[in-house]
Amino acid sequence: MTAAASARQILTRLHEVMASRMHAQGKLDQVVEIIGECLTSEVCSIYLLREGMLELFATRGLNQSAVHVTRMAIGEGLTGVIAETTQMLNLAEAKAHPDFQYRPETGEEKFHSFAGVPIIYRERAVGVLCVQHLDPRRYEDIEIEALQTTAMVLSELIANAELVDDEDALGLSAEMSGQQTLTGLTLVKGLGAGIAAYHQPRVQITQMMADDTEAERERVYRAFAKMREQIDNLTGQAEFGVGGEHEEVLETYKMFAYDEGWSRRINEAIDSGLTAEAAIERVQQHTRMRMREIDDPLLADRMHDLEDLANRLVRIVAGQIGTAAQQGLRKDTILIARNLGPAELLEYDKRRLKGVILEEGSLTAHVVIVARAMGVPVLGRAKGLRGIVREGDEILLDATAATATVRPTAQVADAFAQRFAKSREKQAAYASLRDVEPFTRCGTRIQVMINAGLRDDISALALTGADGVGLFRTEFQFLVSATLPQRERQLRLYRDVLDAAGDKPVIFRTVDIGGDKAVPYLASDIGANDENPAMGWRALRLALHREGLMKAQARALLEAAAGRSLYVMFPMVSEPWEFDAAKAVFEDQLLFLRSHKKMVPERINYGAMLEVPALAEVLDLLLPKLSFLSIGTNDLTQFLFAADRGNPALAERYDWLSIAILRFLRRVVISTAGTDVDLGVCGEMGGRRLEALALLAIGFRRLSITPAAVGPIKELVRKVDLAELSEAMTAWLAQPGIDLRAQLGAWASERDIETD
Ligand code: PEP
Ligand code: MG
Repeated sequence: MTAAASARQILTRLHEVMASRMHAQGKLDQVVEIIGECLTSEVCSIYLLREGMLELFATRGLNQSAVHVTRMAIGEGLTGVIAETTQMLNLAEAKAHPDFQYRPETGEEKFHSFAGVPIIYRERAVGVLCVQHLDPRRYEDIEIEALQTTAMVLSELIANAELVDDEDALGLSAEMSGQQTLTGLTLVKGLGAGIAAYHQPRVQITQMMADDTEAERERVYRAFAKMREQIDNLTGQAEFGVGGEHEEVLETYKMFAYDEGWSRRINEAIDSGLTAEAAIERVQQHTRMRMREIDDPLLADRMHDLEDLANRLVRIVAGQIGTAAQQGLRKDTILIARNLGPAELLEYDKRRLKGVILEEGSLTAHVVIVARAMGVPVLGRAKGLRGIVREGDEILLDATAATATVRPTAQVADAFAQRFAKSREKQAAYASLRDVEPFTRCGTRIQVMINAGLRDDISALALTGADGVGLFRTEFQFLVSATLPQRERQLRLYRDVLDAAGDKPVIFRTVDIGGDKAVPYLASDIGANDENPAMGWRALRLALHREGLMKAQARALLEAAAGRSLYVMFPMVSEPWEFDAAKAVFEDQLLFLRSHKKMVPERINYGAMLEVPALAEVLDLLLPKLSFLSIGTNDLTQFLFAADRGNPALAERYDWLSIAILRFLRRVVISTAGTDVDLGVCGEMGGRRLEALALLAIGFRRLSITPAAVGPIKELVRKVDLAELSEAMTAWLAQPGIDLRAQLGAWASERDIETD
């Protein structure tokens, strides 16, 4: 008999029992009879968790007087070990096992062989199902399979009949219970508290046994087809980012998605009488157990991939397709994901989203920039995340300290609340700097501007007292939109932004789409197959090619700024002619508007971003054309170091405070000195205190930063003596092998300047 047929035989009989109106205890009594008979075992017993102990709930073959009397602790005896490890045991001679414990009231001394499997509910063992036999023989694989399938069905009965309490259900797996701490990498500083929600929520399987096997088979067949289609379309999508490690993940996904063995095993499980959802989970349980026996971190990673994929498959089967954002957040939430794209994050309700924990992530990935703009703390590279956090767990996120406490004790929660209060006080202190102008100790006025991308972000101007918007990322509107935003919609946004900013300048950067800012409606455009999208068909390259796109944006900006000053900045300029071509699109539109007697801006200030190192070598040719130049240190660093800004493996590898970057930037400062071009930095570097100090030291006087950093940077500026600082920096930059971060940190702390 095959494993499926054997399990099916049992399930058919169990089906009747489960469907009957009998009370739960009666059903369990019947279940042990059926299994004992089908597996020709003298004994079949069910232990369930009650008040933290495994209690014998039903038995065939052991003394009935032991029912509800025999109790074992987790880890005690064979049953306790199965529950603790969630691993099955299959022993020809039970007594020979070191954990064997004899319970006289059961009368089990005469039985030799023993096999037991955990009963899993919500990913943890809530009981054990075991069989015993008089003869010393190991149970066959198909018998174990049948036992495991039955255990799954039992979990449904147990849940429905509420035979174990939630507390018990939650009290077993060490990693999934009690307080746990996650550590990772600070991506966006800050504190946040809420309940855990997976970006891709898990499906709770409620029906294990199928009414119609053919229908289940059909469901899973369709789900596989859909999943394969999704995986094929995933390339370039935000969840996976692009390039490097992500491609490997995608390859693994593809391999699993098309793996005949996987689909065959799921079909076999369906043949045994399970629903499609239960069959997928059944196979997954099986794989989990096998993988646990192999101690290989690489395999463990692959296992996570398969888990992800199995989840995806169950979601498709169950028709639960939306992300947590689409389902709506009901409480304060800490979002959990492997990785996210900026557009995916923007879908979340800002009021409810209190933090994000990612398994991957890097400092300058756009999702992180968006989170920073939203004021949402982010912890990245949190290893083992999915093995520790359950949907609905309480989480205290301290992204500043790069930790998160899962299921905190009351004591820890109290301490966190105090820290939270302190941090709010600090925020209030920064807020009090709102009307204080950032002059250095030596009297130089530093321009502190904000980076923005959404209409709401502009309110930060008034809250922080910043000097204007140094970078408005117009592509955010494209990222949050399902279709290409038409000119009218762009115009409305730009006009609103300018109205909200009042007389403070707003530098609009033309769309920077591509790289990790892929938009689905342009995916079919050239560039979709770029092997290296960050260096591919993105930003100005794409905009100049899709002239319609650029024209529409130019017109929208010109019309929005009618009668006022317009600041336009082009991203990823690599050669001066690209700047000329982009400017020409604007000038053409200007002519058009004039010829139609439309009102136009009073003045247009054109600027460029310096993000591509080559541009630094031709500044003498470009500067005369510019009114301002802004350094995008995020991209610049990735190109200088040839280090993908979205690749988590490189997240900590290169330092902004390296001699190479600072020397490079200093040369740019020197090149612009004596020209009329306003020079600034608008990458994330400028919003970090120690890095900002370095930028001031090499001559920058304008920083455009994330709004949350305005207070801290203003405070810092006011404590600095520029002459003293730049003298120190000049000396450091001349010394090879110096640890600049350490030097600058020490310099700052001697002067009581806070830098972390
Ligand atoms: C940069 O590259 O530093 C920058 C500001 O642009 P973005 O992060 O949007 O690519
Ligand atoms: Mg950039």
